[in-house]
Amino acid sequence: MKLVLLGAPGAGKGTQAQILSEKLGAPMISTGNILRAAVKNETPVGLRAKAYMDAGELVPDEVIIGIMRERMAEPDCKNGYILDGMPRTIAQAEALEAGGVEVETALSIEISDEEIISRMSGRRICPECGATYHTVYEPPEKDGICGKCGHALTIRRDDEPETVKNRLRVYHAETEPLKDFYAARGKLRMVDNRNGIAETTKVICEALGL
Ligand code: AMP
Repeated sequence: MKLVLLGAPGAGKGTQAQILSEKLGAPMISTGNILRAAVKNETPVGLRAKAYMDAGELVPDEVIIGIMRERMAEPDCKNGYILDGMPRTIAQAEALEAGGVEVETALSIEISDEEIISRMSGRRICPECGATYHTVYEPPEKDGICGKCGHALTIRRDDEPETVKNRLRVYHAETEPLKDFYAARGKLRMVDNRNGIAETTKVICEALGL
């Protein structure tokens, strides 16, 4: 399975990518997670990316393309992958093609902006291991504590309301055109986001013929 997950920030791409990765035994590759780790470790890439991420802007293509190139060359990508949050621009999609990284299906999770804004307020993340939770849809067993590593959960800085609005604007301008890009190649599938993680997984699996 060589899959790209598309959708607005907060559509549930990361959560569904995690589920599909376990189900299919294919690595989930998330540029957001890679960048957050780089910021935390204060690497040169992290230092460059931080201001863009905090403002809800896209990190420049050249930085992302470098990260993608390195990650997609790892041996675990040989037989399949689930790409979460990349490509995010036409230039990134073209760079994947030019690098010989095959995409079989681009699956877009469709959701309204209003729903996104109400959802993002409940999103929580583990700053230690990157696991994600939601106060309503996917609460951790112990309030405010990561079920995987025991660290205290936090709110992502870019989940603040004003930043969310900017991220939605950026999504519509820069990332949504990828639907046409993949539709023109006969690779686009679309599903409506459902209320509930399991319900959304179900429609995704149907759309993918799993
Ligand atoms: P995410 O966790 O996928 O929502 O990504 C968080 C932030 O990281 C985004 O708002 C961007 O600033 C940055 N980012 C992640 N992936 C990309 C990408 N493929 N291209 C540009 N910026 C990205």
